[in-house]
Amino acid sequence: MNPQEKIKELVELLNKYSQEYYNNDVSLVSDYEYDSLLRELETLENQYPEYILPNSPTRRVGDFQETELEKIYYQTPMLSLADVFNCNELRDFDMRIRKEGFNPHYVCELKIDGIASNASYENGKFVLGSTRGNGLVGENITANMNTINSLPKKLANNMSIELRGEVYMKKSVLNYLNNIREKNGETLFKNPRNAAGGSLRQLNPEITRKRNLDIFNYTIVNPKQYGLQGQYEALKFLEKVGFSVNPNYEYCENIDDVINYIEKWKDTRKDLDYETDGVVIKVDNFDMQEAIGYTIKTPKWAVAYKFPALEVETKMLNIIFTVGRTGNITPNAVLEPVMIAGSLVQRATLNNEDFIIDRDIRIGDYVLVRKAGEIIPEVVRVNFDRRGSDVKPFYMIDKCPECGSELVRAKDEAVHYCLNEECPGRIRAGLVYFASRGCMDIDGLGEKLVEDLFRRGYLKKITDIYRLKNYQSELEMIEGLGEKSVQSLLDAIENSKNNSLDKVITSLGIRFVGGKISKILAKQYGSLDNLLKASYNDLLNIKDIGEAIANSLVNYMAKNSDLVRELQSLGINPIEEVNENEQIFKGMTIVLTGKLESLTREEATKIIEDMGGNAASSVSKKTSFVVAGSDAGSKKTKAEELNIKIISEQEFLEMIKR
Ligand code: NAD
Repeated sequence: MNPQEKIKELVELLNKYSQEYYNNDVSLVSDYEYDSLLRELETLENQYPEYILPNSPTRRVGDFQETELEKIYYQTPMLSLADVFNCNELRDFDMRIRKEGFNPHYVCELKIDGIASNASYENGKFVLGSTRGNGLVGENITANMNTINSLPKKLANNMSIELRGEVYMKKSVLNYLNNIREKNGETLFKNPRNAAGGSLRQLNPEITRKRNLDIFNYTIVNPKQYGLQGQYEALKFLEKVGFSVNPNYEYCENIDDVINYIEKWKDTRKDLDYETDGVVIKVDNFDMQEAIGYTIKTPKWAVAYKFPALEVETKMLNIIFTVGRTGNITPNAVLEPVMIAGSLVQRATLNNEDFIIDRDIRIGDYVLVRKAGEIIPEVVRVNFDRRGSDVKPFYMIDKCPECGSELVRAKDEAVHYCLNEECPGRIRAGLVYFASRGCMDIDGLGEKLVEDLFRRGYLKKITDIYRLKNYQSELEMIEGLGEKSVQSLLDAIENSKNNSLDKVITSLGIRFVGGKISKILAKQYGSLDNLLKASYNDLLNIKDIGEAIANSLVNYMAKNSDLVRELQSLGINPIEEVNENEQIFKGMTIVLTGKLESLTREEATKIIEDMGGNAASSVSKKTSFVVAGSDAGSKKTKAEELNIKIISEQEFLEMIKR
C-alpha cells in the first residue's frame, strides 16, 4: 500500500474508533492499539505532509458530535496532550524545550482516567459546568456537575474563577454499581472511564447523582489573575480555596526527578481507588509555558506519559469461536481465570486466523494477556519458555460453529465469514447489537437474555423485541426474570421507541453504517420512508458516503424493506427535520480569516460543514479558497503567497445564497 493510501486508511480507522470512544463511550480497540495506530499515522504525516487529510485525528481534539445539550464556547481552548511512551521520548521532550533556551522545572501529576470538564464560578458560586467537546465548543452539563459532591458549589471566598478538571468514577463505586446492575440483569459498566462518560452526559441529572461521580481539578484558566506564577503554586491555591485536587502531585527540579516520579507510580497506582493511565508532566512556570506555546491540538509545554498496558501471564485452555452480526468469526481464548487491572479475565480475543498463526499461539500455551482498563482483553504473545511438548499447531475452522455453513475468507481480509443470513449466531449478535447502548439502548436486554429468549423462541428477529409485551406473564415465569425485571425490560423497550432516527439507523446493523454515518443519513433523509427510497446515486452525492457504504445501504434496503416497514408499524418511525442545504462545498477546504460582519465564525463554519465542506484553521496548498473579512492578517498573506483564491464576505454570502 502506498503512503497516501495508508494515511487514508489509518485516518478512517482512527476516526471510527474515536467517534465511538468520545460519543458513545465505547472502545472498539484497546487504548494501546489506538495509540500505536495514531503514532503510525503521525510518523507518516511527518514524512509525507502533502498527504495530510483535513479530518486527520492528529489535527483535532476529541471527536465532537452535537447533541441536544447547549453549546458552550471557550475563549481559552481545552486542549489534548501529546503522548510519550518511554523515558527516551520524555528526554526528547525536555531537550526540545532546552534547545529553545529554557531551563524548565516540572510538575508531575497523575493522569486521571476520566472525562475532562470545565467549571465556572461567579462571586463564589458554581454557575456553569461543561464538557471539553472539540476543545473550542463544549456542552453545558451544569445540572449533572451539580450532583458531584467533591465539586464545591459555593466557595468560602467570593471569587470568580474558571477551572478545569477530570470527572471520574472511583473503582469502588464502579464495583458497587456493577453489583447492583448484575442483580438487576442490567448490562455492566465496562470500566470507570466509560461509566463516568456515560453518567456525565445523561439528560436526567437524577441518574447522574446515583452514579456518585467525583472530580479532581488541575488547571486554572488565567491563573495570573490570582497572582500565581506556576502550576505547583496553582495546585496549592486550588487546595486552599477548597477544590478537590489529587494529592499526588510533585515539583520536579529536572527530567530525572520526573522519571523517578513515574517509576514510583508505575506499580503503586494499582492500589489507588481511581484509574490512572499515566503521568502528566507540565513545565511549572506560566511565563515559560506561554513562551513555549501550543500546537493546534496540544500545549508544547506538557506531555502525558502513558503507562505501559498491563499484561499478565496465564494458561490458554481452549480456543472457541463466536459469530458476529455480519457473520464475522472471532476466535477467543478461554483462559485460566486471572486478575488484570482490577478485573477477572477468563476470555480474551485472538482477533483472527492470521493473528494466531503469526504469533504461533496454541491451545495449552502460557500466554500474555493485555488489558489496560479497556474493554476487550487481548492475547499478546506466547511465553515460549513454558511451551509443553504436546501442544499442537492451530488450524482455523472451516464450518460455522453455529449453523455449520462453509466459512469464507474474503480476499485481502483476515476475517472468516459465515454467509448464512439465517445463522442463529448472526441473528443473536444482531439482536444484542440492536439493543446495545450505542443503538436502541434497551437496558437489561444483554447477551444472556437475548440468548435465552432466542432459545425459547420469543426472539427471532429485531421486531420481535417489540412483541415481547404480548408474553408478559410467560416471561415472568422464566427463571431469573420475575415480575419487576420483566416490567422494567418492557418499559425500556417501550422507551426505545423514542430514539432518534440516527440511533434507529445505527441499530439496523448495516455494514459500514455506524453512528456517524447514521447521523448524516438521518439529517439528509429525515425518515425511514425516505431512506428506503434512497438510490445508490443519491447516496453517493452525500459527503462522507462512498461506494462501499452506498452499496451496502442499497443492498440492505432491498433485502430488508419488509423488516423496516414492520418496525415502522410497531411504532419505531422517528421523523427528523431534513437538511435542505445543497452540498456546494463538497470536498473543499475553506479557511475563514478576519472579522465577518454578518455571521459569527461558528455560524460560518457550520454553514461550510453543512454544505459538505471542511473549515480549516490554516492555509495550505490544499486550501480551496479563503474567505477574508475585515482586518484579515497572516492567513490572507499566506493565501496570496500560495496563489490561493481569496473571496470577500459578500461573495461568500452570495455563494450560500444569503
Ligand atoms: P489524552 O489522553 O491525550 O490527554 C488529555 C486529557 O488528559 C485532558 O483533556 C484531560 O482530560 C486529561 N487529564 C487527566 N489528568 C490530567 C491532569 N492532571 N492534567 C491535565 N490533563 C489531565 O486525552 P484525549 O485527547 O481525550 O484522548 C486521547 C486518548 O484517548 C488516546 O491516547 C487513547 O488512549 C484514548 N482513545 C482511545 C480510543 C479507543 O478506541 N480505545 C479512541 C480514542 C481515544
